[in-house]
Amino acid sequence: MFNKQLGQHILKNPLVVQNIIERSEIRPTDTVLEVGPGTGNLTMKILEKAKQVVAVEMDTRLAAELTKRVQGTPEQRKLQLIRGDVMKTDLPFFDICISNTPYQASSGTISSPLVFKLLHHRPMFRCAMLMFQREFALRLVARPGDELYCRLSVNVQLYAKVEHVMKISKNSFRPPPQVESSVVRLEPRNPPPPVDFAEWDGLMRVLFVRKNKTVSANFKSDTVLKMMDQNYRTYCALKEIMVDADFDIKAKTTEILASTGYAESRPAKMDLDDFLKLLYAFNQEGIHFC
Ligand code: SAM
Repeated sequence: MFNKQLGQHILKNPLVVQNIIERSEIRPTDTVLEVGPGTGNLTMKILEKAKQVVAVEMDTRLAAELTKRVQGTPEQRKLQLIRGDVMKTDLPFFDICISNTPYQASSGTISSPLVFKLLHHRPMFRCAMLMFQREFALRLVARPGDELYCRLSVNVQLYAKVEHVMKISKNSFRPPPQVESSVVRLEPRNPPPPVDFAEWDGLMRVLFVRKNKTVSANFKSDTVLKMMDQNYRTYCALKEIMVDADFDIKAKTTEILASTGYAESRPAKMDLDDFLKLLYAFNQEGIHFC
């Protein structure tokens, strides 16, 4: 009955539904975006609390089922159902996003692209309650020193405060998925940090390839140094700055790392402030990562 390709695992435990709704703290003036409403178990409860619900569902059969479910109820006029792929949909304004995301789709998970689509959405929303596969959720909330601390953790935490809200067992779904789930709450940092994301992510790519090695060891890669050297020359050309004939990216990098005091630090233990300071030090010297 359910389409595995679309990661359809219907939330059948009313206590979990209730818990998600309560923790979302929906206000009567809120517009709620729901990604993948399925048969509408969460949707019906959100409709009771919100001013409006915009739901994006890719499966036309389930969308039809949900339309039928609200028909004739007082909530019908509050629901706007968009049929389509959320990743290809221009999202309207919303205050809150709630989603039991399709993370076990055999067509590939949309967990990570969905999180970044939401975080880059403007105007900014108040909070998002998102259900994910447990390990992905733990990566989102991982702190420096945690085993699962990774590029995803820092990239998401740069833009949002992230909190693990609850664990949900496989048996709360029909059919049960193969993995455990967790609900995570994202609260965007407002205003967002004044950082060029491509630049930031470029540095994180360098540092998290081997997060337990020292920062200076991660900067020893020829590919990394070549990329930085090229970017530096492009930057100088654009700014009409002469590049010294004896310019050596390796020596420059060593000098910058020494000046920041991070040469012997390990990315696995560094926090957002450390990374921001490091990026700033490179950028001040005209060295860029994208
Ligand atoms: N919200 C329902 C619930 O909790 O019972 C269903 C959750 S089910 C895990 C995920 C839902 O997302 C399915 O209804 C599936 O058809 C839908 N879906 C999958 N990929 C999607 C996409 N790219 N855009 C929008 N909906 C999608």
